[in-house]
Amino acid sequence: MSIMKGSDAAKAVVRRNTEEVQSRGNFEVFDELFADDFVDHTPQPNMTPDKAGVRQLYRYIRDAFPDFHAEIHWQLSDGDRVTTYKTYYGTHEGPLLGVAPTHRKIHFESVDVMRVQNGKITDHWGVGNLFSLMQQLNALPISNGANGSESNESDFRLLINGKLVKGASTLDVINPATGRIFMTAPRADQAQLEQAVASAKAAFGTWSAQPLRQRAALLIKLAEALEAKQEDFARLLTQEQGKPLQQALWEIGYSIGALRYFATLDLPIEVLKEDATQKVIRQRKALGVVAAITPWNLPILLMIIKVAPALLAGNTVVVKPAPTTPLTTLKFGELCARILPAGVVNIIVDQNDLGAALTGHADVAKITFTGSTATGKKVMTSAAETLKRLTLELGGNDAAIVLEDVDPKGVAPKIFAAATFISGQACIGIKRLYVHDSIYDAVCDELGRLARETVVGDGLEPGTQMGPIQNKTQFEKVKGFLEDARQNGKIVAGGNVLERDGYFIEPTIVRDIPDNDRLVREEQFGPVLPVLRYSDLNDVISRVNDSEFGLGGSVWSSDRDHAFEVATRINSGTVWVNKHLDTGPDIPHAGAKQSGVGVEQGRDGLEEFTQATIINIAK
Ligand code: NAD
Repeated sequence: MSIMKGSDAAKAVVRRNTEEVQSRGNFEVFDELFADDFVDHTPQPNMTPDKAGVRQLYRYIRDAFPDFHAEIHWQLSDGDRVTTYKTYYGTHEGPLLGVAPTHRKIHFESVDVMRVQNGKITDHWGVGNLFSLMQQLNALPISNGANGSESNESDFRLLINGKLVKGASTLDVINPATGRIFMTAPRADQAQLEQAVASAKAAFGTWSAQPLRQRAALLIKLAEALEAKQEDFARLLTQEQGKPLQQALWEIGYSIGALRYFATLDLPIEVLKEDATQKVIRQRKALGVVAAITPWNLPILLMIIKVAPALLAGNTVVVKPAPTTPLTTLKFGELCARILPAGVVNIIVDQNDLGAALTGHADVAKITFTGSTATGKKVMTSAAETLKRLTLELGGNDAAIVLEDVDPKGVAPKIFAAATFISGQACIGIKRLYVHDSIYDAVCDELGRLARETVVGDGLEPGTQMGPIQNKTQFEKVKGFLEDARQNGKIVAGGNVLERDGYFIEPTIVRDIPDNDRLVREEQFGPVLPVLRYSDLNDVISRVNDSEFGLGGSVWSSDRDHAFEVATRINSGTVWVNKHLDTGPDIPHAGAKQSGVGVEQGRDGLEEFTQATIINIAK
């Protein structure tokens, strides 16, 4: 049935659309009708925003589903707006995108709304539903379901001994933007952990004996493979982690850069000393099996900055991501399965129950761990039995000091960005801000304005600047900090949970809160920033240093030399001047005090995956 009213141009499109679909009865028609008329600016969530992408999508469906067809049930044109209600049907049997064979009937309904001008479709709302369709087809493992789709059968696999295998059981992965399950992941049991460690151990001899440059070449191949799929990875990352797509793309880009960076490094034999009587040489050897354990805030980046140097140095690896964000890591496992020899990288997923078995395992030589300080202490304890090598990147409570000579309007956006990146869940985000008395009110006001202007939402929606909190446990924790701020400080902006599904908290600026409040002393890991007042520089430096944490810190001033002097007095692993949160795979990253042990990134980070042997030769 179709109801026709509105402009002639709109009627013409409706007619053409209906006739084409009815006469051909297949999906091909959409390729011709929509892709050609498609315009790039359509503000539709979850859509491919360019003609080429849409064409590719249609072609893909057509090829994968020979019996695919569409039916238009009704169309309505109103003025220059056309609304179409369609159903798509199809059956698919056989492997899809190289994943396990599937047999699927799909049935998908969509409503498309188009704006028509001069016989052309100038806006098209609803084609984004195709992503949900693609997910049903399992062609895209990603969708927050434009139609509100829930759990999906998963093709994600563990990687053990070069094989992509099912888990002993499964675990549900929740999209934090909806609070609903959007994928199931394989979950390993103790036996699979044993297999993973055994296969890493078996692969170690051959892998470590290869020339380093051969291993470097495989890192480059991994970088290329990740680069070829970076958009897919980014969308998946946004869905499992919550961060806006732009931040997800940044994280994938960083990971690619890290693979490439470590591939440029070398571990040459060094002559430390040579004289008439002796020659002293340092050789660096791989350690063996490395356990790489990662948290949920930057799942793929933090995994790659561990795996890349570990592999380059000749180690083999067992990776264990956080249970709430296992998917991008598992996807990376598919690339490893294709590119690396069996057993060199193994990936298992748990429900927070296999960490201790892995870190206490007699065949694991080194643990590289990123996570909370509390878990880091457990890791250190369980590693003690066999005196494993350890790199621990733990919690932080980064302070930023704003000196009196800065322009509040100029500094506030930079500080705000560093406090709310990944919804305040960056280990090196600004977590407490100390502002000189003379500009305290002005900086608080500016930060408040920025908080009110921030667009909070689903990371896949265009225009979203801040996404949700990653998981329910953390969401409840941040809500506790909000309550605390309400009672003991003054909320300048924000302070609320968003009234919608998912784990959303408004960016919140809190002023006039005492130093001993838990929002100041603990790691809030959420978008709730306490702003504290100071008037004496020595006093503020001692307040900043009075913390069990020592990850990062920053000093902001128009006098760079003065700021540098202040920076040298801050006790943390990194101190920035007039910026915060800026790092790179080539820049060493370490935590002071209870923020960590050892170094990640840079040459220092690579050397942490080696054992030095000193060879002392008599002449
Ligand atoms: P978490 O400590 O809860 O979990 C981290 C990982 O440890 C997960 O994979 C988890 O499954 C695993 N785990 C849990 N119990 C274990 C055990 N007994 N033995 C071994 N592994 C175990 O941390 P999180 O909540 O996922 O991440 C947030 C924390 O990570 C924050 O404190 C943040 O500051 C910190 N972090 C630090 C850095 C850094 O570079 N210093 C970077 C990112 C995040």
